[in-house]
Amino acid sequence: MAATVIDGKEFAARVRGQAAEHVAALKANHGITPGLAVVLVGEDPASQVYVRSKGKMTVEVGMNSVEHKLDVNTSQEDLLAMIDQLNTDPAIHGILVQLPLPGHLNEDLVINSIDPAKDVDGFHISNVGLLGTGQKSMVPCTPLGCLMMLRDHHGSLSGMDAVVIGRSNIVGKPMAQLLLGDSCTVTIAHSRTKDLPDVVRRADIVVAAVGRPEMVLGDWIKPGATVIDVGINRLDAPEKGAGKTRLVGDADYASCAEVAGAITPVPGGVGPMTIACLLANTVTACCRANGLAEPEGLTA
Ligand code: NAD
Repeated sequence: MAATVIDGKEFAARVRGQAAEHVAALKANHGITPGLAVVLVGEDPASQVYVRSKGKMTVEVGMNSVEHKLDVNTSQEDLLAMIDQLNTDPAIHGILVQLPLPGHLNEDLVINSIDPAKDVDGFHISNVGLLGTGQKSMVPCTPLGCLMMLRDHHGSLSGMDAVVIGRSNIVGKPMAQLLLGDSCTVTIAHSRTKDLPDVVRRADIVVAAVGRPEMVLGDWIKPGATVIDVGINRLDAPEKGAGKTRLVGDADYASCAEVAGAITPVPGGVGPMTIACLLANTVTACCRANGLAEPEGLTA
């Protein structure tokens, strides 16, 4: 039987809708408008596109969006001074520094200079530690989006076997922590894992976050398992015309969809959830900063 397609576009629109409702209530009941500041250093074209769409969606849900575009040669000192200013600005509840940064800047130092309470990307070492110890934290957006989709599809994840392929700090590791927090039995696989297909075959939930096009094949998937495909890979698509490309995930969609119980497509799966969760995190940060109840369903 063909897998259920988990529609990330539709789900993300729902999350943005919930965020917008909370923003409207914050304005009406408390006179507070959540504010998200995005800092972009340099002119990387992909980063510019991300920052533009983050700004647009921030405004669409009724929040204030502040963009700081800094010259590619900005010094570390100046960047840290800007972050310091945002840290103390009461109108700003979320700060995001678009990565990657130019090579002369120390990414760890910059991220760890953000006030953890405003770290809506969830990359600050304090938030990493809080998540790792099961405490309230800001949760990285992409894994949060994956968790929301899994909870929505399955209800409880308790006792399920989950395999996360990839051990990056921004996706694989936090994803594993979140699944553990929901009482899954979690395996983290990576580039040195022996017999990956066999490891994946044990999983009720497979999260692929590798960055290798169509690597996970249908015959790796346990019948009925759920496949969450985080990968975004661009392949040449001469059939669409000269110089054209198409996006594929880390899972071979056609063969996995034949065996899986549910699967996220690429595009239109995990991707749209990332910005939706950034907005959700900003609402959460704003509520926490003002001592208000956190919005239900928008946090881990
Ligand atoms: P990364 O390069 O930091 O990490 C990749 C991980 O894959 C590593 O931990 C590595 O050990 C593992 N790996 C590499 N080759 C492997 C192999 N042959 N077998 C098993 N594991 C292997 O990447 P990342 O930042 O975690 O991103 C992973 C993918 O997710 C990329 O395609 C990226 O574009 C995508 N991504 C998507 C979103 C989104 O919003 N949908 C967000 C972040 C990343």
